[in-house]
Amino acid sequence: MISTGERVQASVGSLLSVRDLSIAYPSQAGPVPAVRGVTFDVAEGEILGLAGESGCGKSTIAHALLRLLPPDARVTGQVLLNGEDVLTMKFGRLRAVRWDEASIVFQGAMHSMNPVQRVGDQIVEAVRLHRPATNERQGQAQVGELLERVGLPARRARDYPHELSGGQRQRAMIAMALACEPKLLIADEPTTALDVMVQAQVLSLLKELQRELKLGLIFITHDLSVLVELCDRIAVMYAGRIVEEGPAEAIFERPAHPYSWGLSGSFPRIGDPEYRRAPGGLPGDPPDPQHLPTGCPFHPRCPRAFEPCPDTDPPMYPAEHGGFAACLLLDSKLNPEGARA
Ligand code: SF4
Repeated sequence: MISTGERVQASVGSLLSVRDLSIAYPSQAGPVPAVRGVTFDVAEGEILGLAGESGCGKSTIAHALLRLLPPDARVTGQVLLNGEDVLTMKFGRLRAVRWDEASIVFQGAMHSMNPVQRVGDQIVEAVRLHRPATNERQGQAQVGELLERVGLPARRARDYPHELSGGQRQRAMIAMALACEPKLLIADEPTTALDVMVQAQVLSLLKELQRELKLGLIFITHDLSVLVELCDRIAVMYAGRIVEEGPAEAIFERPAHPYSWGLSGSFPRIGDPEYRRAPGGLPGDPPDPQHLPTGCPFHPRCPRAFEPCPDTDPPMYPAEHGGFAACLLLDSKLNPEGARA
């Protein structure tokens, strides 16, 4: 069993260290816990995938990392970026950190860009805000280079967002996110709205840029099959918590947590006759965060639930794949057989 403190010790030197992060949104019926005690690290040049169904808290985490949540969200814990806590830094410092040290790409580029401003002008604006010595000509030249780097002709800088296709807009958003050469890029479902071919192109672009620039990358999606292609490590979230983390391929092929097993089996694999490992996908729906089930929050949906599950909230246990999973099946006292999920 691993305590949060021990995992903190193991992470010294990370580009990003998130410690015991909890986030609740206000509602008339009381606070709604969206994220509950999440701890993880991202090293320089590492790709971490955050996976889970809608509403599990993964996008809330992405917003919290750069303090983009609504002001009434209640946030506790630490978000250490290069050792500095983003959650407590002064606003002037936060403005400098955004874009310069970490930036974010959202799902719908159309909603993230100003529809009445040319794409190039939007990128120049970000550059000049952070590099005030950059003049207009230098800024435009930099925009051209950035657009070419993401596979768009420099002349597209003169286009308005609606003149670009969905994939081109997402490329432009990536160019904008990289404009100030951050060391950490957060990609929140950047390919979900794209068709499969364009999705593959954007993913391969992200991977290429990540390698070239040695970026730390957090990639968020519900699709484990996308993460296994892209990431070094994967953290699987359920009901506001990380329930499993470990090497990407092992989490996909040999998950230790029954939820990851169901998630992994929910995606068809072309050419794999055994792809229907979880027939019918995951049963049931994610729980209401205000009324979480007792014990293990996954127990009402879990095909492997056993006696202690409705009463015991599982801590993280070391798993066979070298990572951790919050499942009582891994407790040798409760489950002497040590059965894998
Ligand atoms: Fe399933 Fe029990 Fe493990 Fe929770 S603790 S995932 S209910 S087996």
